[in-house]
Amino acid sequence: MEKEQENKIYNDAIAFFGETSQKIMVIEEMSELTKELCKELRDRGNIEDIADELADVEITLAQIKTIYNIHKMVEEHKDFKLHRFASRMEELKSKQNK
Ligand SMILES: [Mg+2]
Repeated sequence: MEKEQENKIYNDAIAFFGETSQKIMVIEEMSELTKELCKELRDRGNIEDIADELADVEITLAQIKTIYNIHKMVEEHKDFKLHRFASRMEELKSKQNK
């Protein structure tokens, strides 16, 4: 789906259901993903169900970013954290190789 169309759906959902409802939805969807991952760890999981719940979480997280208008801020935090994570892994790898 095109980004513009996706953003329109998010804005429509927030306008129709309200910000509070969509904040509750992301919490519900994260718990559904948690449940599917727990089931998978108990060998009762289903990859299709995990993918389905991941999609729900991504859709609801995008609405949270829209509500707070923080898409760019999230990307900046993500970029910082990924670089920090990569350099910590490099440190750990170099310690292992000594
Ligand atoms: Mg769900």
